[in-house]
Amino acid sequence: MKPYLKEHPWSIIEEGFDQTKHEISESIFSIGNGHMGQRANFEETYTGASLQGSYMAGVYYPDKTRVGWWKNGYPEYFAKVLNATNWIGLKLVINGIILNLNTAKVSEFKRELNMKEGFLYRAFTATLENGDIVTVEATRFVSITMKEIGAIEYKVTPVNFDGEIEITSFLDGDIINSDANYDEKFWAEVNQTATDNKALVTVKTKKLDFYYTSKMQTFVDTDGVNIEPTTASTREKYADVVFHAPLKQGKTTAIYKYAANVTNRDHAHDVLEAVATAKLTDAVSIGFGALKSAQKDAWDKKWQDSDIVIEGDVSAQQGIRFNIFHMNQTYTGKDARLNIGPKGFTGEKYGGSTYWDTEAYCLPFYLATADQNISRNLLVYRHNHLEKAKENAQKLGFTKGALYPMVTMNGEESHNEWEITFEEIHRNGAIAYAIYDYVNYTGDKDYIGELGIEVLVEISRFWEERVHYVPRKDVYMMHGVTGPNEYDNNVNNNWYTNRIASWTLDYTLQSLRDLKETDPSLYQQWVEKLHLQPEETTKWEDIIDKMYYPVDENLGVFLQADNFLDKEIMKVEDLDSKHLPLNQNWSWDRILRSCFIKQADVLQGMHFLNHEYDLDTIKRNFDFYEPMTVHESSLSPCVHSILACQLGYQDKAYDMYLRTARLDLDNYNNDTEDGCHITSMAGTWMSVVQGFGGMKVIDHDLHLRPFIPGKWDSFSFKIVFRGARLNIHVTQQHIEVTNETAVDTAVKIFDETVHVGGNETVSVKTK
Ligand code: BGC
Repeated sequence: MKPYLKEHPWSIIEEGFDQTKHEISESIFSIGNGHMGQRANFEETYTGASLQGSYMAGVYYPDKTRVGWWKNGYPEYFAKVLNATNWIGLKLVINGIILNLNTAKVSEFKRELNMKEGFLYRAFTATLENGDIVTVEATRFVSITMKEIGAIEYKVTPVNFDGEIEITSFLDGDIINSDANYDEKFWAEVNQTATDNKALVTVKTKKLDFYYTSKMQTFVDTDGVNIEPTTASTREKYADVVFHAPLKQGKTTAIYKYAANVTNRDHAHDVLEAVATAKLTDAVSIGFGALKSAQKDAWDKKWQDSDIVIEGDVSAQQGIRFNIFHMNQTYTGKDARLNIGPKGFTGEKYGGSTYWDTEAYCLPFYLATADQNISRNLLVYRHNHLEKAKENAQKLGFTKGALYPMVTMNGEESHNEWEITFEEIHRNGAIAYAIYDYVNYTGDKDYIGELGIEVLVEISRFWEERVHYVPRKDVYMMHGVTGPNEYDNNVNNNWYTNRIASWTLDYTLQSLRDLKETDPSLYQQWVEKLHLQPEETTKWEDIIDKMYYPVDENLGVFLQADNFLDKEIMKVEDLDSKHLPLNQNWSWDRILRSCFIKQADVLQGMHFLNHEYDLDTIKRNFDFYEPMTVHESSLSPCVHSILACQLGYQDKAYDMYLRTARLDLDNYNNDTEDGCHITSMAGTWMSVVQGFGGMKVIDHDLHLRPFIPGKWDSFSFKIVFRGARLNIHVTQQHIEVTNETAVDTAVKIFDETVHVGGNETVSVKTK
């Protein structure tokens, strides 16, 4: 797609209204605060193509599974994040004509996502069917400081006429998910009221009893003179208040709409309406201007902790800030029941559920940019789901152990394609790996003894039962799996899955040994609680020793799976570009038979277990697999960019970086209208910090090995490491590390230890 957004370091800007791109923009310009989110739908009536979307974190629906051929073990439902009450709606009738950008002539259209201050702004001029011209300016945000509050300022100014405007400010809870399996509405009526300038709608999910109350209050003034509402009305799941205001040429009518959106996830359901009233009253008394300036301060703080500055490349700068902005609006880590859906609050695809994306891609961002408790909460989330993961393993016929789901809302599996549900079991390894990643980065070894060990042991037990021993070869194998590369299903001995399984066993054993040494009584408590038998750990050692790994000695590469080399080996560059993307041009059968790779698979292992492989091994595998990779998962380019940096493939690293950083802004995968690729955005952050910055933590030491793309004058990123907040600034000549805290720290830059005292800056030459 031809880029249509203006480059700007702090904002995403669309100028001119192109209706064909409206749904893409609705995703890109979405706003959220970790608690709720809102697509960039228009407040006023719009009859063109649009995906209306208001989402509340953790409020979901178990939509009955829809499959062609039922398989035992499938989950009964697919959990879906719910599209909830539309709280932004304003219907404007100007001299009898509905303001609707699908029918009016639109000029001077501008939409801006102000990432620095955290709000969405829109302005346009509309010429109505009768020739009346109005200008509109609309600003809205969902508050970071008052997580249940959304606020809108909407200003209408007649350019060439006097007349009247009828304003209907409404709440509409009669909403359907666009991805509902059976076109069923998930919300049932509970209560709706409307009096004076206030209205309320309470709805409830038809299953699981989520109660959701939205309460709004609307104020209108024309040229500073307050306008009283004329009527208020309700119908099933809907409530509104109506104002009639005079319009005077050149004079502005301003609408302020505040909404409190509360659910029984956070408050008892019988007090929800009272809570909504109290929250709304607070927000109204603070007022739009003060709420907006608190929003700015809250975003200032977020940027202080997580900003990346790129000088000399506005497009790359905008891309990275866009990614960081969405990460920060999707997950704040304040609620351990929540997680990060692949589309965040920007669309319905992937059901808003949790995937291995969180552990494999998102965790490092929160580890390095936020309080330790925030990433710890991501681990606790899986710990809280451990019993369900054990049930999941039993449901599939295992006698012990835990298999975490591929997709989940509450710990239960809710994915139902057999080659993924049953076979993409590598996800279990990522959950174990995240514990390692967290402990390695933070040094918080206590987490293992507190909660981590339980998860590690149960995952290890799963691997123990999932491998099988092959006596004639004296090895353990794993058959019938799908690796991260979903373009090759039901394979035997996927190298990555075997490797991460064996690694998990090893890490679990090591963690048990450490615990025994450091806290023997706690160790003993866990042994008893987990009924851990010596035969189990002996078996794990045997599996580690005798795990089978497909390799090709001649090429010196690990094989993605058995028989991989019997495929017709080709490079992507040998394909006519008309075939790409393969998932839109080839039959599934043709994809599966081909050698083409959707996303990092062997290379995912090289990325996770990077410290275990020498550069030559990484290079041989990268050189073999990357040319066959079509990067048709948004999670792919970032891993390749990081490895390319390590290998000194600077052009490749930069190409891959751009592809990940501007994936949604430039709609690379042609699917941004469904929502933004939130989890891959964390991968973009990794490409800068772990890729260009070369950041790693090895044996408690922070390592940096920066390289700067030729096009950039400089880049800098912030990380929190063991109590110190560091700002790392890389120019073509120097690497400067500034310690913004009083905590002295040591950093290994190109393997040389540099001490950075509190509030000090040290400078080292760039290699
Ligand atoms: C990828 C998976 C990923 C999922 C959700 C798929 O396209 O292949 O690895 O978990 O998207 O992001």
